[in-house]
Amino acid sequence: MVAGQLRIAMLSAHSCPVGTLGAKDTGGMSVYIRELAGELGKQGHSVDVYTRVHDPKDPQIVTLGQNARLIHLSAGDEEINKLDVYNYLPDFISNLESFRQNNNLQYDLIFSHYWMSGWVGQRLQQYWGVPHIIKFHTLGAIKNTFDIGEREPELRIETERELVRNCQRIIASTGQERQELLRHYGAATERVSIIPCGVNLERFQPVDKKTARQQLGLPDDKVILFVGRIEPLKGITRLIEAMPHLQNGHKPRLIIIGGDKNSHGEMERLQSLCHELRIADSVSFPGMIKQEKLPYYYSAADTCVVPSYYESFGLVALESLACGTPVVATDVGDLKHIIRQGETGYVVTDNNPHHLADKIALVLSKPSADNGNTLSIRASVSQFSWSNIAETIIRECHVVLADYFATVT
Ligand code: UDP
Repeated sequence: MVAGQLRIAMLSAHSCPVGTLGAKDTGGMSVYIRELAGELGKQGHSVDVYTRVHDPKDPQIVTLGQNARLIHLSAGDEEINKLDVYNYLPDFISNLESFRQNNNLQYDLIFSHYWMSGWVGQRLQQYWGVPHIIKFHTLGAIKNTFDIGEREPELRIETERELVRNCQRIIASTGQERQELLRHYGAATERVSIIPCGVNLERFQPVDKKTARQQLGLPDDKVILFVGRIEPLKGITRLIEAMPHLQNGHKPRLIIIGGDKNSHGEMERLQSLCHELRIADSVSFPGMIKQEKLPYYYSAADTCVVPSYYESFGLVALESLACGTPVVATDVGDLKHIIRQGETGYVVTDNNPHHLADKIALVLSKPSADNGNTLSIRASVSQFSWSNIAETIIRECHVVLADYFATVT
């Protein structure tokens, strides 16, 4: 039985937590792993995050902060597509086990992220005899219900079902995710704990709007912001379609941040939609922006819009609110509990362009947030600091460990 500080093996086999954010497969989950590992390390736990090598120039070990490191293991060619990683998971396990033995490492528990790492975690759980906690981030069966973008393979959904049956605990980000796990995967209620995601409140701070716009070379128009991976489930098409309904009087500017070479097709589709709707001159696509610079964009914007069909949580909304900028979002993730209707933004029932445009227009019609307003929007998300989230996760880990050793001894 373990008391106090924990030694945690985190698994992120398919996606590198220090990869470039906003690329096709690198977004909220990577942020979650980086931030949580860093914070747990700060709180005195020791965390090794295992991922596969994505670039031959990757050093084997990257420090993520005090007591927290990332370990690259080779498993398949660097450039293989996401689903093919599955075929190399046995190599990933054997390289992980060699690294662990060569370095004399022991872990108290395994915390895996996404179904592929869950597959790895389940096997390591059996070898090591320690509990396995999983966070799915997104669920294949739920993604498929939207019938938008690529369909998730049966292999994913079957693997998720098996993991739900065999792991010791599932961390869901929201009550809705827990319901989905119960309804679509037959999860046992007591095995699913709800712990929200966090936001880095030091990084995401309000910047004076005028200064932020000057820094970014933006004119004094109304600014609408989208931040995220460029993929159909994010609903960007619907946001672009909302724009012509907002063009009476001043033309607002729309900035769509995110997307790498692998999102090229989707980006071109969105750009030609802007031309078709004759709004191309008021929409810009600056590509991926480093998180360090995002507070300037959030602060320069009058509103950040999250028009997604599906989000497991919606980190971008938290980041915008932490910078004091109101959010207009669809009813995804936990946003209906996070956004205070009419106060810190609006949650719309769906991403119908008219519904989005109505609420965006309402936010734009208000004078730009004054300092007091900005601070009260920020205060509405202060409980989501990573230190709070990390403490909650550790309390849960101790409960899981106590249950586990009570049943195996
Ligand atoms: N992000 C970024 N630069 C970009 C695009 C996105 O740093 O160009 C980050 C953003 O700050 C957020 C994450 O990627 O932390 C996206 O998380 P979210 O939960 O909104 O979406 P997901 O990727 O999980 O679908």
